[in-house]
Amino acid sequence: MSRVKLIVGNWKMNGSFAANTTLLSALTAVPAVKIIVAPPFVYLASSYAQLTDSTIELAAQNVASEAQQGAYTGEVSALMLAELGAKYVIVGHSERRQYYGETDALVAQKCLRLQEAGLKPIICVGETLAEREAGQVEMVVSRQLKAVIDSCGIDLLAQAVIAYEPVWAIGTGKTATPNDAQAVHQFLRQLVTIYDKNIAEKLSILYGGSVKADNAASLFAMPDIDGALVGGASLIANDFLAICHAANASYVG
Ligand code: PEP
Repeated sequence: MSRVKLIVGNWKMNGSFAANTTLLSALTAVPAVKIIVAPPFVYLASSYAQLTDSTIELAAQNVASEAQQGAYTGEVSALMLAELGAKYVIVGHSERRQYYGETDALVAQKCLRLQEAGLKPIICVGETLAEREAGQVEMVVSRQLKAVIDSCGIDLLAQAVIAYEPVWAIGTGKTATPNDAQAVHQFLRQLVTIYDKNIAEKLSILYGGSVKADNAASLFAMPDIDGALVGGASLIANDFLAICHAANASYVG
């Protein structure tokens, strides 16, 4: 089945009011491609205001795991993100797993909070280089995904996006080959099929890890790669748009 390509720009801890205004005003809609940008929390409201007349949607990069309100200093809840105009939230990004000790259980708990608030998770899974070399790719990504399904139920995936991001490819300039990425995407879709075939067929599974204008087309040509989660290249309007245009060119209706 043909799925509309989805391109998500993860700005990480980058941006300023001035830089964001310039970047967002250069982004235009691209046919057959859904575009989402994920600015830092503090820029969600201003980005939302700037995108009022645009089809580009907003994601947050993180969410509180415990509750929607309460004594959790420094946290931002799913309901608050919804009020700011976010429709999606990235969860389980490897930088959060690596630098902030986020576990599979915590990622699942965050997904529960998003479910309560009607927000859609972009669930990141992916192996480290050591895990790949040890032949553990399928074991790792299935463990990461099953933790979410076990807590939230398979119906969550009718609202969610999965991003396969091999940790060794993020921000390193190294990209999985299209065939290697396709193999993992196909494995993930087959895993979801065991629970629900219909959800699996409609599910967007993005690839992330040093996606650039010059490698995007070969990745998007793969049958189970439904778009990209883009870090570095999402901060440069022309580079990000070139990736979106590569996605449009790969759409077969
Ligand atoms: C990411 O942050 O999810 C990512 C894939 O980054 P980059 O494109 O810079 O590798």
